[in-house]
Amino acid sequence: MQIIIHRGTHQIGGCITEIATASSRIFIDMGDNLPGLEAPLTEAQKQALVESLCNHNKRTHEAVIYTHGHFDHVGMLEYVPASMDQYMSQGTQDMLLLKEEVLQKGLELGGRNADENCFRIQRIRDCKTWQRPPHRHKPQPWQIGDIKITPFFVSHSIFDAHMLLVEAEGKKILHTGDYRGHGYISKGLFPTLQHYIKQVDVLITEGTMLNREQEASPEWVISQRMEAMMKKFKYVVILASATDIERLMTIENAARKANRLFVTCSLLLDKTLKYFTSFDGGQSQKLFNSERHKLSPTKPKMKLLKDMQDKGFAMVVGAGHSERVEKIMQNLDNEKTLLIYSAWDGYYQLPEQIETNPGYSQMRSLFKNVVDIHTSGHADRKTIEKVIRTVHPREAIIGIHKEANASLGSLNLPEELKDKIVPDRLQLDYITTK
Ligand SMILES: [Zn+2]
Ligand SMILES: [Zn+2]
Repeated sequence: MQIIIHRGTHQIGGCITEIATASSRIFIDMGDNLPGLEAPLTEAQKQALVESLCNHNKRTHEAVIYTHGHFDHVGMLEYVPASMDQYMSQGTQDMLLLKEEVLQKGLELGGRNADENCFRIQRIRDCKTWQRPPHRHKPQPWQIGDIKITPFFVSHSIFDAHMLLVEAEGKKILHTGDYRGHGYISKGLFPTLQHYIKQVDVLITEGTMLNREQEASPEWVISQRMEAMMKKFKYVVILASATDIERLMTIENAARKANRLFVTCSLLLDKTLKYFTSFDGGQSQKLFNSERHKLSPTKPKMKLLKDMQDKGFAMVVGAGHSERVEKIMQNLDNEKTLLIYSAWDGYYQLPEQIETNPGYSQMRSLFKNVVDIHTSGHADRKTIEKVIRTVHPREAIIGIHKEANASLGSLNLPEELKDKIVPDRLQLDYITTK
């Protein structure tokens, strides 16, 4: 058994973990670096990196498995050799395809070259998928050679994220991916760990929030704060991620309680909201059931515009929509208008992010009134502590997806667990952290 953390012990994102036996191996995530948090690589450098990882240490049975669809986990999937199978959850594939297809349409309409994007779409379609089991059912494991993998869904800031239980050569390894304890669907986290996963040998956990002392606000508190703002301001625009089902529920709940029309003006948001509505209508709990109005950016219905102006509205938008939002705002009283910024603050604070994703700061600059209402998609310190105590690793605890100066050792844990935390950049028995 070999566990190699290729990237992630000293950076948030860009995650790559390799787990190998004598005959088989899997990579968990093949993520790209997040702009501003780590040096960006050129396309050629990314290709060379993935090829060197895949060509080195080869085994008979091999695969790449993705925990969720964020760029810092799936960003390099198109460089993985076609001979290696890639796996993701059905919801992850659906989200990625919805996003890429909307992007593709934009490229085609703008007369730009869409070949690279076409290739990425094909590689996503080629991925094998697993389905989330019905409510209260145990997920089905599958094998890559002699490695057994069981995915368990978790709450994160994107739909259908999973942690992976990996079993091989008598060892149990839990790789958490990105997760949190303060979302609506987080109530399943500890029962899942206690009843299905139990004690493990090695825990690989994310540690994004290790350097932040305060507890994360739960998603329902975010909804209450939004509701209060929607009652204060007649015209409210909310900037949020189209693929974050829980945040969209938060916004929809707030709009309903504040008695505001719930509006979207984005093709992607319209598609993901439709998807979430049918997904949760078809599965166990009815998590999401939104009543909404779609405002076409090219041919807006006059009746809807008038209703919005008369009754007020809560309109959810993405970072790329500042132009259309500006147009809508022209006819509204600026004093009665508010932007709820419900995304990571790094997008408008880090210079590299502003350069890569200018839409976030552009959107903020349109409004006189702006309020940040957001909570992280990542586990706070207390949740990480509780996860460690619950799975009580027998051999090792490894922190990834964390800042270089952040350590699991700073958590409040008994000494016998602290002793199992593997320092960064270490070669130890069967574990290597780079
Ligand atoms: Zn991540
Ligand atoms: Zn993530």
